Amino acid sequence: MISPQPAHKEQTSMGTIMSHKAFGMYAEDCLDAVCREVARLESILSRYIPESDVSRINQNAGRNFVEVNPETFNILARSLELSAICDGNFDITIAPLVNLWNIGKNSFTQPPIREMKQVLELVNYRDLILDASSKKVGLSRPRQAIDLGGIGKGYTGDCILEIFRDFGVTSAYSNLGGNVVTLGAKPDGTPWNIGIQHPRLVDSLIGSLAVIDRSIVTSGSYQRFSNDSLGNQFHHIIDPATGYPVESGLVSVTIVSDNAMTADVLSTALFVMGVNRGMELLMSFPKTEAILMDSEEKVFVSKGLKGHFQPNEGIEYTILE
Ligand code: ADP
Ligand code: MG
Repeated sequence: MISPQPAHKEQTSMGTIMSHKAFGMYAEDCLDAVCREVARLESILSRYIPESDVSRINQNAGRNFVEVNPETFNILARSLELSAICDGNFDITIAPLVNLWNIGKNSFTQPPIREMKQVLELVNYRDLILDASSKKVGLSRPRQAIDLGGIGKGYTGDCILEIFRDFGVTSAYSNLGGNVVTLGAKPDGTPWNIGIQHPRLVDSLIGSLAVIDRSIVTSGSYQRFSNDSLGNQFHHIIDPATGYPVESGLVSVTIVSDNAMTADVLSTALFVMGVNRGMELLMSFPKTEAILMDSEEKVFVSKGLKGHFQPNEGIEYTILE
């Protein structure tokens, strides 16, 4: 019988606090391996670590192609595919704009419009060139740069699930700061209950989701934002079409999927695209569902989540058929 007490580990990585739980005989060893895997992925994917594959690509923008490890190559290839499917609303070459807006920092001033327009020119995922035979990667123009902040934790979630399985774990959960992955059901066979944070109320939920074997990724304007001297808040998702922090009318997007990487990308893309265009895009992804909240705090739930989503008291929601 599986012990009812999970092994539990917390770790700080990728700019967030992560919490991993696993049940079963080898759960402790499994979570050690999970923590090592997360650290390994951060060391290749972070653009804040100078020796990472991503940093080397950025340092060589407009000059040289650099050889990256096959895993990085595959992540970049998938990023480009998804950028195209999302019509450029998700774009990993967003880094120069993220820097310009000083995202995540609190010493914040709105950039001059002229400078912003110049930087906006640098953002185009088509300028990331991948050569499959040599596994070499390059950015076409100087000052271009990639940022995997909108996909890296998703990919990491999928890798964590693989490690759980390698250790024979059949019931596990990992929270990577807004990205949750679940393996199987809880040991008693009931679904995991995953809370969806209310984007405006501290310690309050929009509702909860009952899931088995699913990844749940939320992009919300509450997670990371900066204040300017006038008290305006600017959050961390940028519209690659305008160069400004997104104003699509959405304040929170949760994606539920069997693939954490896809869920991560879609949470960002739908946040940029808004309810109508976003839901249309979602239709092209099978077994992928969404919970959206707009700025009037109206909640929209895709129809596949009927019976799985439990709203908190006072939350009104519409099922999108
Ligand atoms: P979080 O990192 O809080 O989970 P997201 O998954 O939505 O949130 O990713 C947002 C991060 O992705 C930003 O911090 C930035 O690094 C990057 N980013 C911002 N806008 C875009 C965009 N339009 N396309 C791709 N990445 C983006
Ligand atoms: Mg995302």
